[in-house]
Amino acid sequence: MGKEAALRDGVSRRDFIKTCVAATAIMGLPYSMHTKVAEAAQRANKPPVIWLHFQECTGCSESLLRSNHPDIASVILDTLSLDYHETLMIGSGAQAEKSLHDSMHANHGKYILVVEGAIPTKDKGIYCKVGGMTAVDSLTKAAEGAAAIIAIGTCAAYGGIQSSPPNPTGAMGVRDIIKNKPIINIPGCPPSPYNFLSTVLYYLTFNKLPELDSLGRPKFAYGRKIHEHCERRPHFDAGRFAVAYGDKTHAEGYCLYKLGCKGPATYANCSVQRFNDVGVWPVSVGHPCIGCTEPDILFKKPIAEKLQIHLPTPPDTYAPADLGQKGPGVSPLATGVVGIAGGLALGAGAMLTKKLPTGEETHEKHE
Ligand code: SF4
Repeated sequence: MGKEAALRDGVSRRDFIKTCVAATAIMGLPYSMHTKVAEAAQRANKPPVIWLHFQECTGCSESLLRSNHPDIASVILDTLSLDYHETLMIGSGAQAEKSLHDSMHANHGKYILVVEGAIPTKDKGIYCKVGGMTAVDSLTKAAEGAAAIIAIGTCAAYGGIQSSPPNPTGAMGVRDIIKNKPIINIPGCPPSPYNFLSTVLYYLTFNKLPELDSLGRPKFAYGRKIHEHCERRPHFDAGRFAVAYGDKTHAEGYCLYKLGCKGPATYANCSVQRFNDVGVWPVSVGHPCIGCTEPDILFKKPIAEKLQIHLPTPPDTYAPADLGQKGPGVSPLATGVVGIAGGLALGAGAMLTKKLPTGEETHEKHE
């Protein structure tokens, strides 16, 4: 986005830079890189984007467009040339189909294909048709000329709620169907618009795709569990759990694990980046994480079902230990052994305390 365009469209230079700083931080880059990211966004020769909608609620587009302050939707829309988007475009019918065809033809091999929604495959794909074509055929045809594909939202990434058992339409994610193109998954229900923006800006800045995890998600956004940075984590570690919605334990802001929070098994940056540009996310307003970035959790595990935690991750808020400085005659190993022994003693004490009738039912350790 050029500076002039930014000012014209109501996005101040300051907000534009703030957006680039936020995206730079999400990418895990040093602060100083934000100027390079901003330059890349400004000089971008607007890579063409074709955005297809299949089985979905349009919540991913809504989440992106409802964002404000700074107006990242404006940054996204100015950085990209959005040639086809069924929700945003003015044209319809034959006119819309023509613009889709023209863009695919003119930009063959160069456009970014963004897919929102799952793709039904059962019964020859008849459960979702746009312009007379099944979703499978539309996707396959558009994927042929795409330089890369971004599957935005959990439906496009893994199939979403449409693919939950018994999956009557045979809904699938993009990666289950397209095998010969680079595909980036930005899951979430909805995903953070910043994760989409950061992925695009990473591509524009470095001219390559970001490093992905085994589920095709950018590691910079989905590399850590939300549990690691959750503001309720001290309550989890201390064994203070909310046990019912609206009661004292809930009002006190205790950990939501016993209400079914899936945070300990969910990889995403929601607890850091948050939503709606006002610093909220589900857990901060009292709702357990539903694991919407994970293919095996969202709509597969009941919301109230407790996770079995096998490998609790340590909080990252402990003071750093400088293992390079050895105390007189005390090795790190010895310190560790003492620490474990101390921990066991404390744990035994805690268990003893727990057996005493304290009247505090809520201070239970997680199972
Ligand atoms: Fe936060 Fe959920 Fe982890 Fe509790 S279980 S600390 S509410 S992410």
